Amino acid sequence: MDQNNQERYEDSELYRIRHSLSHIMAQAVLEMFPEAKYTIGPPVENGFYYDFDLPRTLTPEDLEKIEKRMRQIVAGKYDFVRKVVSADEARRIFANQPYKLELINDLERGETDEHGQPLDEKPEISIYTHGNFVDLCRGPHVQNTSQINPSAFKLMSVAGAYWRGDEKNPQLQRIYGTAWRTKEELERYLQMLEEAKKRDHRKLGRDLEIFIFDDEVGPGLPLWLPRGGVIIEELEKLAKEMEEQAGYQRVRTPHLTKEDLFLRSGHLPYYAESMYPPMELEGVRYYVKPMNCPFHHKIYAAKPRSYRDLPVRLAEYGTCYRYEKSGELFGLMRVRSMQMNDAHIYCSEEQFEQEFLAVVELYLRYFALFGIEKYVMRLSTHHKRGLGKKYVDNERLWLKTEEMVRNAMRHGGVPFVEAADEAAFYGPKIDVQIWSAIGREFTLATNQVDFAVPERFNLTFVNRHGEEETPLCIHRAPLSTHERMVGFLLEHYAGNFPVWLSPEQVRIIPITDSHNEYARQLEQEMRAAGIRAEADLGQDRMNAKIRSAQLLKIPYMAVVGDQEVNSRTIALRRRDGSRQNDVPVQAFIEQVKERIRTRSAE
Ligand code: ATP
Ligand code: ZN
Ligand code: ZN
Repeated sequence: MDQNNQERYEDSELYRIRHSLSHIMAQAVLEMFPEAKYTIGPPVENGFYYDFDLPRTLTPEDLEKIEKRMRQIVAGKYDFVRKVVSADEARRIFANQPYKLELINDLERGETDEHGQPLDEKPEISIYTHGNFVDLCRGPHVQNTSQINPSAFKLMSVAGAYWRGDEKNPQLQRIYGTAWRTKEELERYLQMLEEAKKRDHRKLGRDLEIFIFDDEVGPGLPLWLPRGGVIIEELEKLAKEMEEQAGYQRVRTPHLTKEDLFLRSGHLPYYAESMYPPMELEGVRYYVKPMNCPFHHKIYAAKPRSYRDLPVRLAEYGTCYRYEKSGELFGLMRVRSMQMNDAHIYCSEEQFEQEFLAVVELYLRYFALFGIEKYVMRLSTHHKRGLGKKYVDNERLWLKTEEMVRNAMRHGGVPFVEAADEAAFYGPKIDVQIWSAIGREFTLATNQVDFAVPERFNLTFVNRHGEEETPLCIHRAPLSTHERMVGFLLEHYAGNFPVWLSPEQVRIIPITDSHNEYARQLEQEMRAAGIRAEADLGQDRMNAKIRSAQLLKIPYMAVVGDQEVNSRTIALRRRDGSRQNDVPVQAFIEQVKERIRTRSAE
């Protein structure tokens, strides 16, 4: 959710309902386990959760009991009453709740709120009571539990979570619930979840034989199966074509580098948390790369540049490795090894706007090609409190480059929203936000300004007046990483890839063994025409062969029997179920070739 939506959400009735239910759930859990320790329980998109430190693992039966007790509490028509208290008073109330005590101490220091989120101003400490249950909370809540519809909420699941998201802390159990205004809304949501499950790229990726994970390889390190390999090749072909037209040059760089390079770039220390620990070779520390930028900077610096050479656009599908926390890994969308559609554009300040917008136009062209309509462009800016820690310490240049991006977007007429504290360490960026089938938000494409690193690398060009000037650098990845892009596209198309992206475009199915020879011929002919075709010459009966082609969501099936052999035709069955008999082979080949050539949406 972007900031504006978040603010609207916090003002809404649903937010108050969900927030109140999280307290009610905590009450039910504490009644069931008097020794339980409760931590935090915020409303989230579609519902709420609460994290507990419990004496044993919760079972599905426990959830049912808790839910039942929650309905009783709701029916009790309790008022939610807010009271501002001093830190000492709060410590007395939560005397045997260690997590709450930690939160109270933080609140007193004024650094974080009760959800552990950083704060700008020192907050009041408030508590909310309903019935005999009290929680440390900023609110808001419903006035009375009668404002909650007892048939419009449901407890969904229990998951492990760490206190403050840190694996070094005790493990907690997080109970998720969903809550709505009416029973109908709840039912609609549950139905949508069912649909989403079918689209989930983790399921489709397995069913369509796109990728796997293997325990011995490790979490977040996907293995691309041959069908996934095809999709990747097609995406790279597309990127290379588009980038060639747009004046990019392709380079290649190693996966490993000496520590020195990342010290210079500032990845150490700013990005250290996301990097794998170093390895030591011949007394020198080496890191695997989390980003390609520093290498491209070195290539830029490899020869003197004049204003006439600019912009220099260096592109690479670079493989990067990032240490993403295990709790954050998510199918292909968030992995630890990734191949990035990366490029760095070095330009002068006058060229900035045009180059930045050209990148935005590039993504819009990609989105049109893929039919991606649901996305939000987000300008991610710095936050004062991160200066020198998360962000390069130069407020003046932050404000200046943020304004440059704003202007570029306005002049280009491209709508965007703003989000503070989401920038890269070296500058502001435009991120294109999309949602996975199960509703998680991700950045798909990104376009970033870097005002800091070129200088650290002493990158220069000789300007019109013969003086040395530092170029700006634009980091961009409009097609994201192969991993996230394919994960997203699997869900976007629900596995029904357009013909040009389909791992297998035509499955040829002989009616009996006597038609195998013709099927084999067709396979060769189609392959020679650049079509990914396979003849199914296995032992199965025709119907079983058709079914397995359907399960793989192959766009075309060419069924062939006596009649087809005699007239050199095929009986065509499309993925959508439609059929057409007596299709001449040559006409079919031409039609499919045309679809592929134009990367048609079908
Ligand atoms: P995020 O905020 O999602 O972690 P980022 O801002 O750190 O991403 P960049 O360094 O901008 O990521 O990387 C470029 C692009 O690579 C991102 O926009 C995103 O689409 C993709 N990407 C980043 N991290 C991952 C990951 N762990 N798994 C898959 N793709 C990723
Ligand atoms: Zn609350
Ligand atoms: Zn970069």
